[in-house]
Amino acid sequence: MNKFDLGKFEEEAQEQWTHAFESNPSELEKFYLTVAYPYPSGAMHVGHGRTYIVPDVIARFWRMRGRQVLYPMAFHVTGAPVIGISKRIAKKDPKTIHLYRDLYKVPQNVLDEFTDPLTIVRHFASEYQRVMTACGISIDWRRRFTTVDPTYSKFIEWQWKHLYEAGHVIKGAHPVRYCTVDDNPVGDHDLLEGDKAEVIKFTLVMFRCGDAFIPTATLRPETIHGVTNLWANPVIIYVRVLVDGIPWIISREAAEKLALQDHTVEIENEIAGRDLIDTMVSHPLCGKVPVLPADFVDPDVGSGLVMSVPAHAPFDYIALRDLQHAGRYPDIKPIPLIKVEGYGEIPAQDIVEKNDITSQMDSRMDALTQEIYSAEFSKGKLFERYGGKPVRVARDEVAALMIEKYDSEIMYEFDTRPVVCRCGNKVKIKILHDQWFLKYSDPAWKKQVSDHLGDMALVPPEVRQEFDRTVDWLKDWACTRRVGLGTRFPWDTTQLIEPLSDSTIYMAYYTIAHRIKEIEPGLLTPEVFDYIFLGKESPDLPVKKKLEAMRKEFLFWYPYNFRFSAKDLISNHLTFQLFHHVTIFPKDKLPLGMVVFGMGLLNGAKMSSSKGNVFLLEDAVSEFGADTVRMFLMGSAEPWQDFDWRNDLVISTKKQIERFYNTVLEIKDANGEPHDIDRWLISRLQSHIERTTAALTNFQTRQALQEAYFGIETDLKWYRRRLPEDCDGSRELHTLCSTWVRLLAPFIPFTGEHLWKQLAGEGLVSYAPWPVAEKNLVNIRIELAEELLSRTVEDIESIKKLIQITPKSITISLAPEWKHEIFLIIAKAEDRNLVVKEVMKNDAMRRRGKEATDAVKQCTTLIHRLPPHVVGPLTQERVNEKEVFEAAKGFLEKEFGVPVHITEAESSEHTKAATALPFKPAIIIA
Ligand SMILES: [Zn+2]
Repeated sequence: MNKFDLGKFEEEAQEQWTHAFESNPSELEKFYLTVAYPYPSGAMHVGHGRTYIVPDVIARFWRMRGRQVLYPMAFHVTGAPVIGISKRIAKKDPKTIHLYRDLYKVPQNVLDEFTDPLTIVRHFASEYQRVMTACGISIDWRRRFTTVDPTYSKFIEWQWKHLYEAGHVIKGAHPVRYCTVDDNPVGDHDLLEGDKAEVIKFTLVMFRCGDAFIPTATLRPETIHGVTNLWANPVIIYVRVLVDGIPWIISREAAEKLALQDHTVEIENEIAGRDLIDTMVSHPLCGKVPVLPADFVDPDVGSGLVMSVPAHAPFDYIALRDLQHAGRYPDIKPIPLIKVEGYGEIPAQDIVEKNDITSQMDSRMDALTQEIYSAEFSKGKLFERYGGKPVRVARDEVAALMIEKYDSEIMYEFDTRPVVCRCGNKVKIKILHDQWFLKYSDPAWKKQVSDHLGDMALVPPEVRQEFDRTVDWLKDWACTRRVGLGTRFPWDTTQLIEPLSDSTIYMAYYTIAHRIKEIEPGLLTPEVFDYIFLGKESPDLPVKKKLEAMRKEFLFWYPYNFRFSAKDLISNHLTFQLFHHVTIFPKDKLPLGMVVFGMGLLNGAKMSSSKGNVFLLEDAVSEFGADTVRMFLMGSAEPWQDFDWRNDLVISTKKQIERFYNTVLEIKDANGEPHDIDRWLISRLQSHIERTTAALTNFQTRQALQEAYFGIETDLKWYRRRLPEDCDGSRELHTLCSTWVRLLAPFIPFTGEHLWKQLAGEGLVSYAPWPVAEKNLVNIRIELAEELLSRTVEDIESIKKLIQITPKSITISLAPEWKHEIFLIIAKAEDRNLVVKEVMKNDAMRRRGKEATDAVKQCTTLIHRLPPHVVGPLTQERVNEKEVFEAAKGFLEKEFGVPVHITEAESSEHTKAATALPFKPAIIIA
């Protein structure tokens, strides 16, 4: 009848939970938590499971602690990815079909409809809701919405009106990552590779070559004075192009890039790289130099030609040295131009020789180049004949001079490569005109965010640095796209607001999402939202009663208490939302805290839908049960640590839940009289309650499970061992079961609800009061006595194993009084190094000499080994060891099956007796 059957528990609970987590403003204190909403373009895997289960455990915890808890969910369907998916499905792309049909298990008739992008997101949004519900995630589903709902678009338009009025939305020319296949700017989410690459501004140094220019891209224009030659790759084909009407010689890749960067580019003819070798070129700042051959020159970097400064660039130095070793160009000498402390005349030569670099291919070359670059930038000075200025000043001055006088241009490039779009195309940099930006570069805006960040709770605390760094480095953000789903951009309706820009303050929208559905979108003017969110009255507000109810909801719930998200969103979403909040809302409505998650692994490898390395959440729930999935995900790591899903470990979690279930059913109706051991069990329970509560308050789900599950289970084992023979346990066990079930209910709510009924608990366990530790039930004396006893039992067991004889008797020999005095002095000492002096102040101790100093050493070691929760109480409460062991004599004789003697060490003749310490008696097995 009461068999352990997770499937049955799930069914029972679901029936009672249908509307259980719908939450409204009340007299209670609120707790509002949100998690980044999903983009529903595929099935949920166990990694997603954790993202929503961590906040659920926290939501359930605070609900039981009597807070009015709101945990809402919505779906983010803005952007282009789903459009790409629908196109690939329409084209019957085998990889996409395989993913959706075989991995995500979409039925064929549904898959046929996936040629419409909205069908995809609708399908997976309801799948998400179904699977989240199956996992027991306690969401108020009345507040569900998608980001393409017309009412939501009205809300976004209102938000953008405020951003615009605050001067944060600007229009201009700007270099952005761009995909020429999609003909669209590329956001972080649109990248297959290279999301860390930054756009860097190079100066093109223009060398004259006949009637044409040969440009070379550099970050160090000041080194022009030390140019000895150019490098061209003899095996590639260059092109002669008219750039803005002037002939240039560059690589074909460079020509394509320049065409995206505000230049007209017209290809005239091809030139073989080998034909450029030995050509003479010139620049007014360095005179005539030859073009030399080099294999390292990459046509896809800069112009495809490089200026060579062998005195200061290790690559150039080695390339020239290699040629000269082969007997070529013997007359070219490096030309030094920068004096830098710590290096000789020719820094590149120094560093190459110091590190025994023999080849251009040496893997240390990049690091060495960077080393010189940094040293020269921070401490270097140009020689007097080149102006004598520090490098950091000269660099910008030379660049400006070149642009003004010597035909130089700017070229944008990525600092690292490759950068690849989701479509597989190489991403380029395009200067967009009439592009709209969010001006995240604005120092005043940054400061507002930094100031508020300082007031926020960030979990774990280490992420604070990463937030600070992001705020510092954020640049202007292209905030519109031409392709995709979403809200039209108010000042240019041919464009759409891009996905990371329409998902920054929707946590406020949740507070009214279920009520705003009742209002005709046409009525939702900016004045309406100004009233709901900012309390601004204006004449002729429509449906005022409904607006008042929404205002009340917002005021009750906002600001949110905690936002949960994966750590890879710090560099965009989690920081963006702060920028938007500080602009729109007053100080008392700004976010209070964030919790940042680690990543999920599957059998040790990173989970990835596109690589097929995922385990679907629904499969996990049907195979192991929702409670098992929850407890495993919460117990295997703290939320901010990475976790690893392994089926074999999940199976043992299921066995733990079953053990818990059976134990509760076995002991809940015990009705014996309480003994001392019952007082011990209930006393211990108080600290488990306290520590579980503290752990969950700090979001430490793993720590909380250690206390609430393993802590209590271990106590119960000892308890049952210590019960008198004729007793199955006392009526105190009912109290323990009630507490235990409630402490575990946030983790395993299905089993929790079932057991709560069995215990005749009132209502749902989901709303049962969270246990509170009661000080008057804590009995330190009994806890210490049992601690002493259990440690001694362990000692006896390990000695028995060691000596491997069948014992005839066991003698427990207790430490003398003077050792207790020493123990106490050490336990209380602030500086344990000064203890010997302290002890030796006492004449009686001094007379004991070596015996006393040895005891100090042994006691110190023992105190280090004992946990603080034992040492602390021992300084307050003296354990009467003799009494403890006399009382437990029967127990010990039963455990070990031999007579047990208790003696004082001082009156024993056995040499071992001298080792007796307080809390660690000597054990003599004969
Ligand atoms: Zn693309």
